[in-house]
Amino acid sequence: MARTVHIIGAGLAGLSAALDLSARGDRVIVHEATAFVGGRCRSYRDAALGMIIDNGNHLLLSGNHAALAYLRSIGAEGRLIGPPSAEFSFVDLANRERWTLRFNDGRLPWWILNRSRRVPSTHALDYVALARLLWPRLGKSVGEVIACNGPLYRRLVEPLLLAALNIDPPQGSARLASAVVRETLGAGGRACRPLVARDGLGPTMIEPALAALQSRGAVVRLEHQLRALRFGAERIEALDFGSDAVVLNAADAVILAVPPYAAAALVDGLSVPTEFRAIVNAHFAIDPAAGQPPILGVLNGVVQWIFAFPGRVAVTISAGDHYIDTTRDALAKTIWNEVAAVTGLPDALPPWQIVRERRATFAATPAQDAKRPGAATRWRNLALAGDWTDTGLPATIESAIRSGNRAAALIARQSA
Ligand SMILES: Cc1cc2nc3c(=O)[nH]c(=O)nc-3n(C[C@H](O)[C@H](O)[C@H](O)COP(=O)(O)OP(=O)(O)OC[C@H]3O[C@@H](n4cnc5c(N)ncnc54)[C@H](O)[C@@H]3O)c2cc1C
Repeated sequence: MARTVHIIGAGLAGLSAALDLSARGDRVIVHEATAFVGGRCRSYRDAALGMIIDNGNHLLLSGNHAALAYLRSIGAEGRLIGPPSAEFSFVDLANRERWTLRFNDGRLPWWILNRSRRVPSTHALDYVALARLLWPRLGKSVGEVIACNGPLYRRLVEPLLLAALNIDPPQGSARLASAVVRETLGAGGRACRPLVARDGLGPTMIEPALAALQSRGAVVRLEHQLRALRFGAERIEALDFGSDAVVLNAADAVILAVPPYAAAALVDGLSVPTEFRAIVNAHFAIDPAAGQPPILGVLNGVVQWIFAFPGRVAVTISAGDHYIDTTRDALAKTIWNEVAAVTGLPDALPPWQIVRERRATFAATPAQDAKRPGAATRWRNLALAGDWTDTGLPATIESAIRSGNRAAALIARQSA
């Protein structure tokens, strides 16, 4: 009997699982609660700006091997752009000092020995302390493993971990920080090239995936929210969508690729992360300044990263929970004042949009990290996916895609 794999949730975790299983020849149906595909990683037409923008600026690194394999598999790898080598420009708002970090390609980090490549006001020996982050320390926070002060911390470790973990780094899980450091700085500059979606997340990560799924006969059903699972002793027996239900054949399987709070509502007693951190993005309809770097790190400001796109300048503030209740007008003005100050763009506020995702990622603390379940469940035809499942990485595109790959492999093995 031909089997069907039902994938619940059309974020990157669900899409990557759907791509893997449809490539093996399984019949795949993706059920998505909302009217759009992509979950937390999507593009939309913004009325205030009159242009298509992403829900948030998303940065990939060249070492994100699962994300790059996903893009290759849908023919979209060429839609990412970035510098030919790993370079990150920074400006310090406190004293207007500017510098560019230039990692060398290989694993041996000789950039540390070169004053013009390393972080200003640091010494080569300072970097030895970073080695403490290379080994995972279970249950420990970053603040318990390294000293969270001094120029190297403020100018390199803090911006890196804040962006990757989406949490104030001293509170962050040392295990997750260690995975980030091992897969970026520890892997050499070749793994650290910053990459962004040239034409937006939709045309890069989502639409080509939908086209690939369609060409393999997979079905994506929008506005089809799973309301309940019917549990047998060993397997899921049926899916309840409210207005309709699907009874599963003995060979059918389910991948639950929904956010943690949705998974917990569907599976009694499932351990999931329960705390979250926000990300705030601001978008301004204006051409970037001449010579503005594609990505600029900002220290000692509200703004953390400034992205330059054709006709648009966009800002990211990770762990942005402080700004969730600030009025939108006041936030837009504060952010623009800083952008104008560091880019030389005019002081007058251009047309703007603020997008605040309250539950952008689970809070990457040691306690929340410990709540993440693996892909397997006690029901043999039910697997879990999502950036919040225990991938060993913080909640990122790479984690979401690896989780989808892993859930698909588990379901594929069970049918073999
Ligand atoms: C503003 C912002 C900026 C970010 N920046 C970066 C970055 O720079 N780099 C990076 O790597 N990562 C970044 N991330 C994280 C990245 O977007 C996420 O890790 C990734 O998109 C999560 O994918 P997912 O499939 O696990 O979950 P989701 O995208 O949340 O997908 C889950 C899907 O399940 C659906 N769903 C929920 N309940 C049901 C139900 N009952 N039935 C059917 N469907 C259901 C949801 O509607 C959703 O579409 C950012 C996230 C945000 C919000």
